[in-house]
Amino acid sequence: MNIYKCNTCDYHSMSTKYICPKCRKGKLGSLKVSPKGTVYSFTDIHIAPAEFAAIAPYTVALIQLDDANVKVTVRMNEPVEIGDKVDLDKVENGAFLYKKE
Ligand SMILES: [Zn+2]
Repeated sequence: MNIYKCNTCDYHSMSTKYICPKCRKGKLGSLKVSPKGTVYSFTDIHIAPAEFAAIAPYTVALIQLDDANVKVTVRMNEPVEIGDKVDLDKVENGAFLYKKE
């Protein structure tokens, strides 16, 4: 997956910004990293917004990537626990769908 990394400090982000918010000097450049990571926190969604009602209940997890200092919000295709190792399954409508390793 592609994330953004500052060219003068260690700042990582999922979205690009005009200037690095950490060192306020660097520019963010695209960086390709492994999508593998670890579950940092999660929430079971039982009552979903209309567009996701058909797939509820489902789990939304915050993943700490292994390769970068950034956390990604993803949808899990199975129940998870904090600390589980997970990997990208597919990208659907711009959302990351993850599965357990
Ligand atoms: Zn920076």
